[in-house]
Amino acid sequence: MRKTIPENGTGWPELEPQLERFAAESIDWRHGRSPLFVFLATESAYEVGKNAFFKFFSENALGGKRAFQGLKRMEDDVLEMALSLFSAPPDAAGNMSTGGSESIFLAVKAARERFRALKPGMRHDLNMVVPHSAHPAFDKAGQAMDIEVRRVPVRADLRADVKAMADRIDERTFLLAGSAPCFPHGLIDPIDELSALAIDSGLWLHVDACVGGYVAPFVRRAGYSLPEFDFALPGVRSISADLHKFGFCPKPASTVFYREREDYERQIFDFDDWPSGRFTTPMLSGTRAGGAVAAAWAVFHHLGAEGYCAIARDLMEMTRRYVDGIEAIEGLQMWAQPDLTLINFGAPDLDIFAVAEGMRTRGWLPGLTQRPRGMHMMMSLVHEEAREAYLGDLRAAVEAARAGRASGAAMKATY
Ligand SMILES: *Cc1c(COP(=O)(O)O)cnc(C)c1O
Repeated sequence: MRKTIPENGTGWPELEPQLERFAAESIDWRHGRSPLFVFLATESAYEVGKNAFFKFFSENALGGKRAFQGLKRMEDDVLEMALSLFSAPPDAAGNMSTGGSESIFLAVKAARERFRALKPGMRHDLNMVVPHSAHPAFDKAGQAMDIEVRRVPVRADLRADVKAMADRIDERTFLLAGSAPCFPHGLIDPIDELSALAIDSGLWLHVDACVGGYVAPFVRRAGYSLPEFDFALPGVRSISADLHKFGFCPKPASTVFYREREDYERQIFDFDDWPSGRFTTPMLSGTRAGGAVAAAWAVFHHLGAEGYCAIARDLMEMTRRYVDGIEAIEGLQMWAQPDLTLINFGAPDLDIFAVAEGMRTRGWLPGLTQRPRGMHMMMSLVHEEAREAYLGDLRAAVEAARAGRASGAAMKATY
């Protein structure tokens, strides 16, 4: 029988323990058991984000302009601070969104509108050319907007193959994309080459910095050398960057930016033909969590550039210790040295999925990739305390796989 809303309500004292039982079913992410989904920097940033979120728990960012001006000012502050991270020219503009998928959708829409404006008569059967490692959000956008997505195999070093991408461009291509970094391999694509290709071919280049956007600038500031990926490269027309990943802000919070305000305006929805009059939003969503805006503002101010920089340094050092520990295990091999804090490793003469199965039975959620077959982790600081236990279990899982005591047959690469 289908559940119905209970006839009589229940007070919080009885609800809270029930919620705790639901929460107990979650993977123990706080102790580093999940390689994705959750990001934690410091305990204080977590508390500040949570408190700020709940101060604006009921406010609706949709009404920022008319009813919640303080919220609107915080959103504008967050956007300006973010723009200054990405070498954005004075005319640049953007907005917050509910996540990377929405940010990418909006950039694709804006790029398509620009193409249509420049090439009247070419409204349909358009396509975009992206590396095979690009996030599925491009395909989600493509399916919704009836755009073909051409995924181009990456180079042997797992970065975007710009020459091969150039070969897939035709007169109906309106967008090129690269990732900084891509989710599966954690590598920054050669955005400088993509930028040059975009300029030569008159195409829009979108940089998907969803996962790396709010950590890469601080990694660089901490003294690591990283390839350029932002508006400093002239072909980059838009950038997506998630606050709720390595910006360490509460979900749902992302950003999307455009080099030119005119491009930004192409993503805006502006509508008047219904009884309630003009309805305009730049993003897909209508109602939006005010809490997410306030929390991003508070976390930026709480951590400050110095705080982000210290976290970036800790993350990079921790990632190095993980990589060293993995490489010290006979049979395992990094598929690439990570640019940031996403790693992927495999086992050339073992079934890495069998190793992953061994990790699963030892209480870890294994992240898997299918091409190449690898184990994947997106590191945040919760993974430091888990490192010794993880590496110990990994060694045991490799031995079990080698001895034929574990099978990877039931394991599948899923996000
Ligand atoms: C997470 C991610 C996205 C999508 O972001 P959501 O917030 O999950 O919608 C897009 N691109 C990359 C590279 C990502 O890592």
